[in-house]
Amino acid sequence: MKRVQTPIYMDHHATTPVDQRVLDAMLPFFTEQYGNAASTSHVFGWTADEAVERARRQVAEAIGATPQEIVFTSGATESNNLAIKGLLTNSKSERPHLIVSAIEHRAVLDPARHLAESGCDLTIIPVNESGIVNPGDIARAMTDRTVLISIMTANNEVGTIQPIREIGCIARERGVLFHTDAAQAIGHIPVNVDDENIDLLSISAHKVYGPKGIGALYIRRRRPRIRLNAQIDGGGHERRYRSGTLPVPLIVGLGTAMTIAVESMSTETVRLAELRDHLKTALMERIPDVVLNGAESPRLPHNLNLSFAGMDSESVLTEMRDIALSSGSACSSAEPEASHVLRALGYDEARVKSSIRFGLGRANTSDEVDYVVEQLVDTVNRLRRASPRYRVDQHREANHLTTMEQ
Ligand SMILES: *Cc1c(COP(=O)(O)O)cnc(C)c1O
Repeated sequence: MKRVQTPIYMDHHATTPVDQRVLDAMLPFFTEQYGNAASTSHVFGWTADEAVERARRQVAEAIGATPQEIVFTSGATESNNLAIKGLLTNSKSERPHLIVSAIEHRAVLDPARHLAESGCDLTIIPVNESGIVNPGDIARAMTDRTVLISIMTANNEVGTIQPIREIGCIARERGVLFHTDAAQAIGHIPVNVDDENIDLLSISAHKVYGPKGIGALYIRRRRPRIRLNAQIDGGGHERRYRSGTLPVPLIVGLGTAMTIAVESMSTETVRLAELRDHLKTALMERIPDVVLNGAESPRLPHNLNLSFAGMDSESVLTEMRDIALSSGSACSSAEPEASHVLRALGYDEARVKSSIRFGLGRANTSDEVDYVVEQLVDTVNRLRRASPRYRVDQHREANHLTTMEQ
């Protein structure tokens, strides 16, 4: 087998490296073009402002929006907070109602729960074991007081893609607004705010080969025109939605990253899906008792999430120090706990604890995939041989099968 350079990074749902072209575009705005985009009386300010407005057009173009509908934030967490809190706290209703799904990122679930503690009604829609929301459940959950539906475009753990067009339709028909956390989807699948009836959409640069600490919120301006309460007040930047001096280099990075992602999407999607499918087939063929978590399709092309029966995924990952993957128990948050996403799919504790998430990316090669397969086959088989529990489970399973056949 060919030698590969280690460590190997296959955790692109957690974050991605900054693309060299993105960095090149950013660099002059740190040292030469360092003006404040709000300075209107000199060329330093004008240059910064032009760069910001170019990036705003790039972001808008990537999702079929107009530049005036893009507000720069510090990332998808802030965008989600601004969309959800900004809208619900602006509602005239005594007890506004919010609908989210059980597999949302914590950056949606936590603000939603926060609002529920302070007088909003919250419905958390379940998902089926494929990890897909049923639009019918959303229609049934809606009341006269429903203000917002927030359903992610694609999930960060199992990669499942939600029927956002249908959800957008249902929302539009009932005059309810629709927000989608598209942090994992942008740059991987086409997203168009008009085709999909999206009113608010969250973006994060560091999930698409841009820098950390920058993101955007799309806020629809026509049919309907949306009004939100700002969550950060100050100098009135970003049409008063988000005050604070604009981080010009980061904004330039976001804009460039979005343009590159859209341009390379069609070829990258095919390449990554092929690598992912090869990874999946090889692991399932060579390791017994492996199950796929979440639907095979529709799914992000670069996502794979598998459970290895009898294993504790944390132990598996600790054994493979030169490969960066993610376990269902550590997820992406600062506080490790069993994945609420996998539990929402109805999986038992053992399946959740034995899950490993693979997130392929732009720089991954098929040699790296082969290396990861070899390492995993070796590690799982070795750990299983050492685990009396797995052997007992296997034995029980075999007995169970023979009894069923009788
Ligand atoms: C990464 C991620 C976020 C958080 O984005 P930040 O820009 O890091 O705040 C929110 N939602 C989803 C689905 C994500 O994958």
